[in-house]
Amino acid sequence: MPKVGITTTVPVEVIYAAGWVPVDLNNLFITDENPQSLVEEAELAGYPRNLCAWIKGIYSIALKNRDIRTIIAVTQGDCSNTHALMETLQLAGVEIVPFAFPYDRDSDLLRLQMEKMMSYFGVSWKQVGEAKERLDRVRSRVWELDRLTWAENRVGGWENHLYQVCCSDFNGDPERFAAEVDEILKERRSAPARKEELRLGYIGVPPIVGELYQYLEERGARVVYNEVQRQFTMPFETPDLVEQYRLYTYPYGIFFRLEDICREAARRRLDGIIHYAQSFCFRQIEDLIIRQKLGLPVLTLEGDKPSRLDARTRMRLDVFLDMLR
Ligand code: SF4
Repeated sequence: MPKVGITTTVPVEVIYAAGWVPVDLNNLFITDENPQSLVEEAELAGYPRNLCAWIKGIYSIALKNRDIRTIIAVTQGDCSNTHALMETLQLAGVEIVPFAFPYDRDSDLLRLQMEKMMSYFGVSWKQVGEAKERLDRVRSRVWELDRLTWAENRVGGWENHLYQVCCSDFNGDPERFAAEVDEILKERRSAPARKEELRLGYIGVPPIVGELYQYLEERGARVVYNEVQRQFTMPFETPDLVEQYRLYTYPYGIFFRLEDICREAARRRLDGIIHYAQSFCFRQIEDLIIRQKLGLPVLTLEGDKPSRLDARTRMRLDVFLDMLR
């Protein structure tokens, strides 16, 4: 089956309906045996040093995986650097399929974008609807994993992050992924409830430093809400696919995202929030809005390259947790 690269969550139902395999290039980059070297390769090719490491990693991993000859470029609703990233990949012979989330969540425009994508992949609404039913069966398991995290305290922050983030492409095989989640659910349901005293939310793009979750748990705090990762699971009860991608908050403005964040912060009884901002990312600017609008203590963390947690970040986390206590 042909593969199609994605750089963020897109209507993946269209891809599965067409019998293609989606590959989230972010996941491929960060799980590479040496992600740091991928960033350096992009810099050697001419990517600027003062540019987000995710973009550089995606560039190199796309070139490394020569079986991915087509990539969907989200030209609106994701990253301002995507345009140039796609141009450099196009230069290397990759076919680029554009997709745009309308800024104002206009359902007609979103439907049109989805239909253009369907036309590229040669599928009908009926086929796409069937793919949605197939994927929703998998998503519902991950929703349960999330519930076990915050309502029953049986799942750690890293696992919550990992299984939710994988819902962007279902690791290329939804049924196999579902079987993996079933195994974890079985184990965690019979595990004793966890006892961390502080409940944290993590908002912003997924971290480039995975060690964060473990570090927090060693210090008596646990992430019980991963904002963007949860959005990748489409946690919305709607049979309408266009509406599903309207309810998905990540591609739209910060104020729409904040509605979801505030709702979940109250429901999950959060003590504080970590706002992760990637170095050189335009989303860093939104931190000032988040700080004004969230009625909770916020720690803003900045990450750059894929590496371990540095001493400064560890110290800032320690101080934040002490303050929350
Ligand atoms: S972290 Fe920011 S700059 Fe980097 S890829 Fe994501 S949206 Fe773009």
